[in-house]
Amino acid sequence: MKSGIAAIAAANTEKSHRSMNKPSETTALVWFRNSLRATDFKALYTACKEAQLVIPFYCFDDHFHTPLYTGWPKTGAFRTRFLLESLEELRLSLQKLGSDLYITRGITAAEIMKIHQKFPISCIYLPTYPTPEELDIEKGVQALGIPMKRFFEHTLIHPSDLPFPPEKVPHVFTDFRKKTEKSLRIQEPLPSPESVKTPEEFLNLACPTPRMEDFGFSPLSDDPRSAFKLKGGEIQATHRIDHYFFKTHSILRYKETRNGLIGQDYSSKLSAYLAAGCVSPRTVFKQLKTYENHNEANESTYWLFFELLWRDFFHFTALKSGHRFFKIGTEDRPKVTPKFEEWRLGQTCEPFVNANMKELLHTGFMSNRGRQNVASFLVHHLKQDWYLGAMWFESQLIDYDPCSNYGNWTYLAGVGNDPRNRVFNIKKQADIYDPHGAYQSLWNA
Ligand SMILES: Cc1cc2nc3c(=O)[nH]c(=O)nc-3n(C[C@H](O)[C@H](O)[C@H](O)COP(=O)(O)OP(=O)(O)OC[C@H]3O[C@@H](n4cnc5c(N)ncnc54)[C@H](O)[C@@H]3O)c2cc1C
Repeated sequence: MKSGIAAIAAANTEKSHRSMNKPSETTALVWFRNSLRATDFKALYTACKEAQLVIPFYCFDDHFHTPLYTGWPKTGAFRTRFLLESLEELRLSLQKLGSDLYITRGITAAEIMKIHQKFPISCIYLPTYPTPEELDIEKGVQALGIPMKRFFEHTLIHPSDLPFPPEKVPHVFTDFRKKTEKSLRIQEPLPSPESVKTPEEFLNLACPTPRMEDFGFSPLSDDPRSAFKLKGGEIQATHRIDHYFFKTHSILRYKETRNGLIGQDYSSKLSAYLAAGCVSPRTVFKQLKTYENHNEANESTYWLFFELLWRDFFHFTALKSGHRFFKIGTEDRPKVTPKFEEWRLGQTCEPFVNANMKELLHTGFMSNRGRQNVASFLVHHLKQDWYLGAMWFESQLIDYDPCSNYGNWTYLAGVGNDPRNRVFNIKKQADIYDPHGAYQSLWNA
């Protein structure tokens, strides 16, 4: 528990560092983690202001690319492809700013050390995450002894702007929402730096973006049935917001359509961009406000903001709870059973569950309505350990986010915050949300 809160304390020291004088020839390393963007990225922006030279760095850390104990990849093919696309766009953005991206693979601390030996680094600038695996990697880097400046960047509301200290985050979402809405403060997104000045010798070193094959995956072909046909990257995220808000005005009907199952525009499809950090939640919020000011504000536009608050709620709950958030009410390393395999492969007695599980298997995406149903079915009907389901989602989802995934799973399993019996009547749900069976035919045929 302490480690997450300690990270916040460290992230809050960013203010006191701003006034530091520049020592001569300072070289900053900006560690791009799940913040694959140039705009509204405080770590990059600050490094460019404070240091004379900046090395943009990304590492595919072995921890996230080693199979889970079940044998499934920890980062599956769909998310890997999305990351590769996002990195390629980030590299192009950085090249336009006069720099490049150093992409590597291995143990992050060791990879940073290799750079440090060639180009002594005066400070590492990084976004920090409150989750145990990310913090462990951060600790490994900290052990190198290079000064670090951490920035808490991935939530809509900065922890210092919450109306309560992070360790007092309300237990129940409604309390969290009401309190935060009462004194809402959302920081203005930062622009991209004007230029990123990088050591000349380093520019010659920059290595190519890996390919799917480097991770043991074949290139993927797109499933025409997929509800998520979008590509990764910061520019793609901007296009998606433009499409969903300004071009099609789909946002105006979001509240009515968000429980949809087929097609791209029943919901925003921003989750993967937010999870990889191709766009910040503050930028999404700003665009939403721009839309409301120039067009219309209604219940639907409010509801997108409401969902972003759910995202923040899980992130702050993870921060408050530490390891417990990920392990509550589960056995140690639960075993994969034949029943679980039937669920995973979409071979249960429930066609609605099967359709959703096949969509996930073949595309890496599933609607929120689907996720709720399959999670409830696994835990409450099949009586399987929720943790296995969460791990399969982690492996498979394009938009996997540790806090949103494990938070939603524990919530639905009734073991997390606000523990209530959340049993879905699957047949009734199918009747309401797939009344003509079109979705089930699409995937079960
Ligand atoms: C069991 C389960 C696991 C989930 N795992 C993830 C995950 O790993 N990553 C992830 O981003 N979302 C997860 N969700 C939440 C939600 O299903 C997805 O965010 C949503 O379906 C993504 O589609 P969208 O971007 O079109 O969402 P929209 O409906 O357009 O919502 C807008 C944004 O709000 C946020 N959001 C919406 N619903 C939730 C929610 N329930 N919890 C947290 N944030 C939310 C997302 O960032 C989303 O992009 C999970 C939900 C369940 C029930």
